[in-house]
Amino acid sequence: MRKADGWYVSFSLEDKTVPTALPVDEIKTATGIDVGLEKFLTTADGQSVAVPQYYRKAQATLARQQRKLAHKTAWSKNYQKQANKVAKLHLHVARQRKEFHYHVAHWSVNSYDLIIFENLNITGLARTRLAKSILDVAWGAFLQIMQAVAVRRGKHTRGVDPRGTSINCSRCGERVEKTLAVRVHSCSCGLVIDRDWNSALNLLKHESVGLPIPGCGGYLDTSPAKQQVSFVNLRCSRYIACN
Ligand SMILES: [Zn+2]
Repeated sequence: MRKADGWYVSFSLEDKTVPTALPVDEIKTATGIDVGLEKFLTTADGQSVAVPQYYRKAQATLARQQRKLAHKTAWSKNYQKQANKVAKLHLHVARQRKEFHYHVAHWSVNSYDLIIFENLNITGLARTRLAKSILDVAWGAFLQIMQAVAVRRGKHTRGVDPRGTSINCSRCGERVEKTLAVRVHSCSCGLVIDRDWNSALNLLKHESVGLPIPGCGGYLDTSPAKQQVSFVNLRCSRYIACN
């Protein structure tokens, strides 16, 4: 495969070390994950992962270099030099994103035996005005990576119909209508939490019925204070074999 910075060869290998999946009745920890534009993801126990700053910065640089390219005379020597620069930046951004996705995937799979996520209609969402940010955070790519990492560790993932997850109250089930701009879920039953957290709880409730998970659904803490998981200082080396 030819890329902007050279030629690459890809191999497909059978991996005999892939374990058999954890038996369902041995699942001890489960979570729902809600992916969003504001935060990259939020779990049912209220942890959130932000979209990394370095990624936003690299994207800004890319946009700047693309504007420079637009001002060069087509197919001149300078145009070609700039076009190559832009192509390399594209690769850089794509690789940063992939690395970030792997970090988050490994963290999720290490933390939970079962991860429930929304089966998003990415192409449907991408046609709306939110298109740019949706394609940039690339949830679809992340969800695929997370599922692959889970298989590799014998963990479980489940995609579910997202209908109602952001509207319904995760404590009482009542519908609480809200636009995307409303970031807090505030229900007449007294539950006031971050909207993404409420969605993640709904996802967990959706699928975890009948599973022997201690404390499942018991996270209903009205405090919006949460822990933010940071991947800024992680280095890839430990996981590189799985990339
Ligand atoms: Zn409620």
